Amino acid sequence: MKINLISDTVTKPTSGMFDAMMKAEVGDDMYREDPTTIALEEKIADMFGMEAAMFFPSGTMANQTAIKLHTNPGDQLICDKDGHIFHYESGGVSFNSGVSCRMVDGNRGVISAEQVEEVINDPNSFHSPYTSLVSLENTSNKGGGTCYDFEEILKIKAVCDRHNLKLHLDGARLWNAMVAKNETPQQYGEVFDSISVCLSKGLGCPVGSVLMGTKEFINRAFRVRKLLGGAMRQIGYVTAAGIYALDNHIERLADDHQRAQEISTLLQSFPYVKSVTPVETNIVIFELDKQVISHLDYIELLQEKGISISTMGPKLRIVTHLDYTAKMHQYFLETVKNLDISVSV
Ligand SMILES: *Cc1c(COP(=O)(O)O)cnc(C)c1O
Repeated sequence: MKINLISDTVTKPTSGMFDAMMKAEVGDDMYREDPTTIALEEKIADMFGMEAAMFFPSGTMANQTAIKLHTNPGDQLICDKDGHIFHYESGGVSFNSGVSCRMVDGNRGVISAEQVEEVINDPNSFHSPYTSLVSLENTSNKGGGTCYDFEEILKIKAVCDRHNLKLHLDGARLWNAMVAKNETPQQYGEVFDSISVCLSKGLGCPVGSVLMGTKEFINRAFRVRKLLGGAMRQIGYVTAAGIYALDNHIERLADDHQRAQEISTLLQSFPYVKSVTPVETNIVIFELDKQVISHLDYIELLQEKGISISTMGPKLRIVTHLDYTAKMHQYFLETVKNLDISVSV
């Protein structure tokens, strides 16, 4: 058995999804003539109660577009020190928007209203960059699938309103957060100026993200997406997967969370596991006792049994997803239990 737990991006379309893709009605999206894409965009905007939405080939491009539209060159945005927009978008914030990041020392990727307020620059001081945007990430990827308390988001929104800042949400895994915390898309739509969500993570689509905002914002986003090389043609074949996923793959995220939870519980029972960060959604991050086994040796040991997991610095990371079935889960738990790791001092 081959089990890939390095990310929730590794999934392949289910037969139902594949069917929907094959049957999609398509047209040239650059002329806004792809009916399936328009249907996806309207469906997702409706879900969140936002005015408009636009499909993007990647979450990175959706975030970069939002940042470009909310800022001017020289401005500063506020985000957590573990933020995807800072670490994993290849420096796009500075390249595309000429903006710097003011990092906040959050708790596993989650920042507080108080922390935001502390780092806003005085708009009347020409010495400091002009603070124009706050960007939150829910769930936090590097933080290990951590979720915001919605109350804190509301407080951050109040700070943004008070200081005239825009508020963006990198919601690549917002679906996981909403399932875990029993929240609704409308709640989020009411608070944020823009939201990006991934279809290609927990929802199991092969490609794509969606950016939401006001009509005016999305009209401007159309130009930026084109400028970044992200305008596409008959993408209904791909966006059909998104519609299918919204209808079929959201509630089942609870299964991924349950499995991640069970993996975490098992890992905590081993003397050679030094720590497991609390699991909130579908990501498990853990650290081994180096005296017993190194993280690279551990990865190799699992690899021999057909199981792939990834490193996160000196730690290890497991991500559960749609293609990680109940059967694989049983095999994984059994295999990990029976690994030959002797604890000798
Ligand atoms: C995956 C991810 C993105 C977008 O990634 P793409 O690979 O560009 O689709 C953005 N933010 C977070 C937090 C992510 O995990």
